[in-house]
Amino acid sequence: MASEAEDGQAISGVWYAPQTSRAMTATLRLEDGGRLTARDEAGAVLASCELPAAAFSDRVGSIPRRIAFADESAFETDDNDSVDRLMQPLAKRGSGLVHSLERFHPRLAVFVVLVALLAAAIYRFAVPVLVEVAVLVTPPVVPELLSSSTMTTLDNTVFEPSKLDAETQKDIAEGFDKLAAASAGGADGYSLNFRKGGHIGPNAFALPDGTIVLTDELVEMANDNETILGVLAHEIGHVDHDHSLRQVYRAAGVTGLILLIGGDVGAGVEDILIQGSALLQLRHSRSAEAEADRFSIELMHRTGHDPLAISRFLELIRDKLGDTSESDFLSTHPATPSRIEETKRYAEELMATMPD
Ligand SMILES: [Zn+2]
Repeated sequence: MASEAEDGQAISGVWYAPQTSRAMTATLRLEDGGRLTARDEAGAVLASCELPAAAFSDRVGSIPRRIAFADESAFETDDNDSVDRLMQPLAKRGSGLVHSLERFHPRLAVFVVLVALLAAAIYRFAVPVLVEVAVLVTPPVVPELLSSSTMTTLDNTVFEPSKLDAETQKDIAEGFDKLAAASAGGADGYSLNFRKGGHIGPNAFALPDGTIVLTDELVEMANDNETILGVLAHEIGHVDHDHSLRQVYRAAGVTGLILLIGGDVGAGVEDILIQGSALLQLRHSRSAEAEADRFSIELMHRTGHDPLAISRFLELIRDKLGDTSESDFLSTHPATPSRIEETKRYAEELMATMPD
């Protein structure tokens, strides 16, 4: 009895000599208290090694099992159940396949958590990074196309030619040219366009190629060139920081950005390029507004203008249009108390540290 338990039952199958496909009918059995041995029909030993030295293929349905000996010969059988029984001592020893799978479970849980964290990190960090990459690789034709299509759409739908008198236009344009000359894009990097705003009302906005639009309604509301220049300096800030382009790219999402960077313009971006007015529906983030405000304060100060002009303008829209106005300008440029306070604080700090 003892010897039968130790030797186990013979498993029928086929044996392959090392590095050949020559097959030979054989039996496999655990002998001598632990040696895995294959014998031919006459009982001669074909291969033998310690059980842990043999390599067992995984059990996959009814596919025949392959057991490789240390000498690289192999035994194949479709008697999967007997092979599993043969492998039991390995599982008990703690080095078998079954045991290693059990041990893997805690690691699997950690892996799943890591994948979830990675996915969250992609949404948190990859989009801003991809947006920056897209801005860097954007050829000049993209902002030009975006801007010209937006202007065409607006001119065909809401805008009318400006009714401002020539002198007012000339005064504002001269001040604007000086601001432009002192900015990164230079005198030719920006163009000021006067328009009657229609239902858009008092507004000023910048398109990504440096096209800046100023409505008659805003000029009339401000009624002060210095205040208007503060607003135009703010718009130059949006251009210099590529705020509109970033908004378009953020709207394109991860997939759109990857396609875009790869040179394949996605459907979403294509829509925006064709229907330029979509650009106007994109709102600048709070941080982009704050950045453009600081830009205005610095540029106005640098060119000998009043750095508090933008604060005055924000107070003006708060007073004239109220916080709940449906003005397009207010929805894209909210004159919140904290924003007014912050622009004043920054302008005064700048004037104190860098007097004219
Ligand atoms: Zn703005």
